[in-house]
Amino acid sequence: MRYFEKSSKLDNVLYDVRGPVVEEASRMEENGMEIMKLNIGNPAPFGFSAPEEVILDMMSSVRASQGYSDSRGIFSARKAIMQYCQLKGIRGVTMNDIYTGNGVSELINLCMQALLNDGDEVLIPAPDYPLWTGTTNLAGGKAVHYICDEQACWYPDIGDMKKKITDRTKAIVIINPNNPTGALYPRAVLEQIVDLAREHDLILFSDEIYDRLVFDGQEHISLASLAPDRFCVTFNGLSKSHMVAGFRAGWMVLSGPKEQAQGYMEGIRMLSNMRLCSNVPAQSIIQTCLGGYQSVREYVRPGGRIYEQREFIYKALTDIPGITAVKPQAAFYIFPKIDVKKFNITNDEQFALDFLKSKRVLLVSGGGFNWKKPDHFRIVYLPCLEDLEKAVGRLRDFLHGYWQK
Ligand code: PLP
Repeated sequence: MRYFEKSSKLDNVLYDVRGPVVEEASRMEENGMEIMKLNIGNPAPFGFSAPEEVILDMMSSVRASQGYSDSRGIFSARKAIMQYCQLKGIRGVTMNDIYTGNGVSELINLCMQALLNDGDEVLIPAPDYPLWTGTTNLAGGKAVHYICDEQACWYPDIGDMKKKITDRTKAIVIINPNNPTGALYPRAVLEQIVDLAREHDLILFSDEIYDRLVFDGQEHISLASLAPDRFCVTFNGLSKSHMVAGFRAGWMVLSGPKEQAQGYMEGIRMLSNMRLCSNVPAQSIIQTCLGGYQSVREYVRPGGRIYEQREFIYKALTDIPGITAVKPQAAFYIFPKIDVKKFNITNDEQFALDFLKSKRVLLVSGGGFNWKKPDHFRIVYLPCLEDLEKAVGRLRDFLHGYWQK
């Protein structure tokens, strides 16, 4: 018999959202158990929904959205994105520099495929949103991880970044605001990254999908706004800011000296044309979403759901003996540290599995974010306060007396 194996292109790809812990959770659910899921940044199942106006606008545009659009996207969406760039200080963006995608995910993959030859290196944060590492490796490139420093509010360690630049490095990726740490980078840190890109002539990729989910009156600064002289690709979308992850509405914007990247842009155009266009009904709401009042602000100010859930989760977790954490400044994730000596933890996936089996709570261990030590895990704090209270209570009970075998 002939067996069909997965392509060898996938051999180096460390990306599997359905690892053994998630598999076990599915088995437990099939056996009728109720699992508390703190593992996916998908707002809709936790009672968040898009503003009514957005739903109505999408409904009314469906009939007119049946055909393929321009491969980059419909005019109204790209115009709104262009104006958003103006508000964020990203200069010189034309309509041709904007591509809509089926979520940011599709565009990250497209950008890596269009850029990388075998062995080309890309600097990617650790911890990271693992799609960045997965797509870099899939494209034949090599993901080289720079450390984000927990002691410094999880900001990128510029010294480490510098050390890891080689002749093969083509680009630096930043995720700001960050998943999984919830960090928001200040101007001074961003400027240092831009300086490094200048010094070594590197492309900058900035994943800014959480830029409207920022707490405490802080301002999100777009990396590209500080780097008009660097070729930058900035990613954003509606999955998180408008709670419509299932609609698959994302975009990317090319800025800086285009003459330096004519060949790369040709590659992007080719791959964009190959997928014809992104989901047109989803594109039709981008204008509505980006203009006018941003209702997401109500979630992230004091009294708002995401704000109050952050306050709770930070305090409740750090009250548990053996757990410490940096308070998140944005998004809806926290990446706590666990005292591995206290609990004899040598395998973080085993820790997540033991916790799941014992307490029926699903979280993701640090290794899922390319964090090499077994001392972290990520919690998505989208569930309501009552559920978060239950989950943290179970973690406290579980850790009391836990000793990994
Ligand atoms: N980038 C980051 C940092 C994310 O956390 C996510 C989703 O969780 C994505 C990109 C993917 O977003 P999209 O739904 O637009 O594909």
